[in-house]
Amino acid sequence: MALIVQKFGGTSVGTIERIRHVASWALDSQAKGDDIVLVVSAMSGETNRLVELANQINPIPYSREYDLLIASGEQVAVGLVTLAINTEAAKRGLSATRARGMLGHQIGIRTDSVYSKARIQEIDTRSLHKEISRKVIPVIAGFQGVDVENNITTLGRGGSDTSAVAIAAALKADDCEIYTDVDGVYTTDPRLCKEARKIQRISYEEMMELASLGAKVLQIRSVELAAKYKLPLHVRSSFNPVEGTRVVSQEALGSEMEQVVVAGVAADTSQTKLTLQNLQDGPGVAAKVFGALSAAAIVVDVIVQDVPVSGMLTLSFTVGKADHLKAKQVLDDLKANNFNSMKIVEEKSLAKVSIVGVGMQHHPGVASKMFALLAEAGINIVLITTSEIKVSCLIAEEHVKRAVECLHKGFELHRVE
Ligand code: ADP
Ligand code: ASP
Ligand code: MG
Repeated sequence: MALIVQKFGGTSVGTIERIRHVASWALDSQAKGDDIVLVVSAMSGETNRLVELANQINPIPYSREYDLLIASGEQVAVGLVTLAINTEAAKRGLSATRARGMLGHQIGIRTDSVYSKARIQEIDTRSLHKEISRKVIPVIAGFQGVDVENNITTLGRGGSDTSAVAIAAALKADDCEIYTDVDGVYTTDPRLCKEARKIQRISYEEMMELASLGAKVLQIRSVELAAKYKLPLHVRSSFNPVEGTRVVSQEALGSEMEQVVVAGVAADTSQTKLTLQNLQDGPGVAAKVFGALSAAAIVVDVIVQDVPVSGMLTLSFTVGKADHLKAKQVLDDLKANNFNSMKIVEEKSLAKVSIVGVGMQHHPGVASKMFALLAEAGINIVLITTSEIKVSCLIAEEHVKRAVECLHKGFELHRVE
């Protein structure tokens, strides 16, 4: 008998019909003898709708009330899924309270207080164990928690994945299944490139890079947590019961992965670039700029500092689109208080394309091949960053689909097995 955490994403609970399917799936899984815990996201489109409503009132809405608002989509989904399980259970002649819906605060999912990007600190598993021991299926709201003062917090977009992994780790579950609208992790987003191929098994490291570079099939934090607790993840379809993709440790993959130089291509269209020109060069400039951004909980991605010309510095960096207005506000304050001569240039229509592969650290020439492929496709590179296992290029957003297709083909990802 195993303890399995099953997470259902937005599309998987997007209609009443899908919710009924989830209910039957959970009961069938339980009937096989396993203990089941469900984590659910808001119905598809609902969180976007709530964000849009908030934006109409205040386009820089990160705050306690913003989280209170956008966390509400999950409550609806929990209510409906729980009702559906109990209704189906009654039809099957089982006890009528086969499932029990629970919100983040009801089971003590404690987070820090960084609204919209909160991190889970601990989970009180007592009530969950109690329900599981009575063969009741806890149906838990993903994406949300509470801070030390009982304020509702949310975990960042796509955060239900992280809720599921954190709950699975806290319960020491045997398996964590992430049910979504694709049947696994692909060599690139199958919606961007028809040639994308399903990967059978992928290492935590590669999955972390893909997730952080735009492959939203898993939220980056969920993969970090899974790696930390050595919890295997199974990404699979809620529409099709075939085996999905296993996300496992490098050791578990063994020599399988050394053969693959590039495992996947990721694209991220949620980035914007800010360039600070005419900054008086001197010690502490970067510390001041990035210190102010970090104090506002803004995550900065690619950073490029040009060689100073006549003592004046140019600093460029990217931030997530959702943080752009807030970042601009921080920079306007800095300009007013510290750097009067500074000019702020904003560029919004950019995308980041990346290639990822643990094998590339032992193979020279991967980055240059990427640049050549983009050049052949006539795509200009705005910024470049590299790490041991990835190369990223910032390009104009309009070229993103073509860039992904040419890299996928150029690195022969449709063929690798
Ligand atoms: P859910 O609502 O189930 O959490 P998401 O929309 O967050 O689902 O994530 C699934 C989506 O991730 C897919 O529909 C797909 O378009 C996208 N995606 C991006 N990159 C990849 C990839 N490499 N493999 C699979 N899916 C990907
Ligand atoms: N509903 C939240 C979102 O849309 C969380 C999730 O789906 O994982 O981002
Ligand atoms: Mg998701």
